[in-house]
Amino acid sequence: MHVYDHPTFHMACQQFDLVADRLDIPANDRDRLKYPKRALTVAVPVRRDDGKVEVFAGYRVQHHLTLGPTKGGMRYHPDMTLGEVAALAMWMSWKCALMNLPYGGAKGGVACDPGHMSAGELERLTRRFTQELIPFIGPQVDIPAPDLGTNEQVMAWMMDTYSVHAGHATPAVVTGKPVAIGGSLGRREATGRGVGYLISRAMDTIGLNASQATAAVQGFGNVGSVTAFSLARYGVKIIAVSDALGGTFNAGGLDLVKLQEHVTRTRTVANFPEGESIINEQLLTTPCDILVPAAMERQITAANVHRIQCRILAEGANGPTTPEADLVLDQRPDVFIIPDILCNAGGVVVSYFEWVQDLQSFFWTETEITDKLFRLLESAFNQTLTLSRKQKISMRMAALSLGVNRVREAKKLRGLFP
Ligand code: GLU
Repeated sequence: MHVYDHPTFHMACQQFDLVADRLDIPANDRDRLKYPKRALTVAVPVRRDDGKVEVFAGYRVQHHLTLGPTKGGMRYHPDMTLGEVAALAMWMSWKCALMNLPYGGAKGGVACDPGHMSAGELERLTRRFTQELIPFIGPQVDIPAPDLGTNEQVMAWMMDTYSVHAGHATPAVVTGKPVAIGGSLGRREATGRGVGYLISRAMDTIGLNASQATAAVQGFGNVGSVTAFSLARYGVKIIAVSDALGGTFNAGGLDLVKLQEHVTRTRTVANFPEGESIINEQLLTTPCDILVPAAMERQITAANVHRIQCRILAEGANGPTTPEADLVLDQRPDVFIIPDILCNAGGVVVSYFEWVQDLQSFFWTETEITDKLFRLLESAFNQTLTLSRKQKISMRMAALSLGVNRVREAKKLRGLFP
């Protein structure tokens, strides 16, 4: 399916093929599990503030429809392509299945640079994009959420556009909305909190004492920043943080509150007065106990994996480690990997809670939500670790095997139509 041609899609397929070989999935079932069920590309015309009309490419890919509606984020980033979206949708499928959520995976977004658009332009873009997607999304069809470059406000505009079309408020059409219009308490923090919780479980597993541990975090957006604060609460010292514009390092530990203030002021962690400047590549190879890539895919590759120096690799981002780098990490039992589909699953888990609350119009307390989140993560962590140990396979292979196998089982039970 060359419409999806993109290095990230090839990477997702390569991972799938390895899992399919390990699970001995017959040839007849493979492509049916692998390729997205539906993909939509739309042209999104937007009037810029200077009066010019610009047309942006918008995408939505729904990977499989076997277990319920599809679920996944909307990304606003200049380099978005259909193939990258398809890969991210596939990973959402395995993530939802690993967490036992009644969803198929989806992903979407618009190729645009939200950092260089006014609030008015972003609103017009979001509303027009949502309008183009109306026949394709809905509480029982496909439920968008935030991802890189989108936030609660973008979700509020999506919810409003869909609701105006339906003629009544339809909060369950998106998750990650503001709490005031049907969002869930704890959704904004969910991914980072989950990453922090799973790292604490990994520290227990390898016998690492949190109060003596150091961490480096790539990305200081919603996932990276909440993870850093959450790790600090466990007693971990955050020594390096980077984002798209640069990085900062302080061997004595970064003051996160001051760093957050600096980011609010300057929109980047670069040039933080209380740290030395470092570039992204240095962050990934910083000697530390816990490395958290929480930005883009394909960051740890054959080119730099030999220089990674950490004991826990916690993948806050989707697809940060390439299969070539995995081959090297497989030979490094000293590095404990919390693979992306497990590590960052807290976000979609609380999205699921938000959708359930919206459908029932009955809302839970933040304590209930965090308790339920940690319980689901605990169970998935234990299942993955047990399988990895029992079958002597990597944590990634174990997590993907659990996810892929559940989708495969469901497809087998439902059968091939007609
Ligand atoms: N974009 C997030 C992810 O990659 C969240 C998806 C969701 O909440 O539906 O998992």
